Amino acid sequence: MKLSYSSLVAAAVCATAFTFSSCNDSKSALTTEVGTAAETATSASNAVATTETASTGPSTPDPASIPASRIADAATITARPQVPILCYHQIRDWRPRDSKGAKDYIVPVEQFKKQIQMLADSGYHTILPDQLYAYLATGAPLPPKPIMLTFDDTDLDQFTVARPELEKHGFKAVYFVMTVSLGRPRYMSKAQVKQLSDEGNVIGSHTWDHHNVKKYQGEDWVTQVEKPTKTLEEITGKDIKYFAYPFGLWNPEAIPQLKQRGMVAAFVLAEKRDPQDPLYTIRRIIASGYWSPRTLHNSMVNSF
Ligand SMILES: [Zn+2]
Repeated sequence: MKLSYSSLVAAAVCATAFTFSSCNDSKSALTTEVGTAAETATSASNAVATTETASTGPSTPDPASIPASRIADAATITARPQVPILCYHQIRDWRPRDSKGAKDYIVPVEQFKKQIQMLADSGYHTILPDQLYAYLATGAPLPPKPIMLTFDDTDLDQFTVARPELEKHGFKAVYFVMTVSLGRPRYMSKAQVKQLSDEGNVIGSHTWDHHNVKKYQGEDWVTQVEKPTKTLEEITGKDIKYFAYPFGLWNPEAIPQLKQRGMVAAFVLAEKRDPQDPLYTIRRIIASGYWSPRTLHNSMVNSF
């Protein structure tokens, strides 16, 4: 796919606009999932074995080093209590022209600080995708009250605002980068992405320019997944193993394509997981800009 610079800019703007418009879908999906998830799953924070030594560092195996014979079947993985995973986009104060729907995706700075403070005060420990993978695939222990924080779409304020706030609490996060945006105004640079990686955060793929995975054909997999993965591997010097679907949209056909291209797990939004492939449909909820710390906590408890 060949595009001029101006169409690239348009694509990035569209990506943001589409992200906003997808908000209502994900919110209604969240609402429908809340009841069933709460009934069938005990919160991971209560049920997961608590071993401090599992919290960070070299004790977490790389997914590639785990023998296939040790990886649980889909039903076992699905039955494990889910770890709450939050998805953030922009962290900035609301502007008059921000739409009602967009404000789910824009968390004002003070609201963000309060949400993160609540997580710290409540004793949550951030985990990273390799830990989540080892837990889901093999039942490896997690720290008490595990949570995963994820940031989509490469927005600059994730580096300038969220990063220092997380640092205060010793929290690490996952940044799902859309590579078309790197170095653009209001987006992160390659150097900033590298710094996040060097500081112990994880960089994941969020495609090249945020097109819907369900519509990919042929070369689109190269443009949207292969090349961006290579770019991110060159920037970070690390393997890129985790993928977040744009808009949270996926279909069963996408999963073998991601597997072929080195992804070991993929993240959706609040919809139900695929019972056949729960590792490629790991659920997240969008931490809304409207949510007080209490609302956020209630949503986490009810959704996972
Ligand atoms: Zn996105």
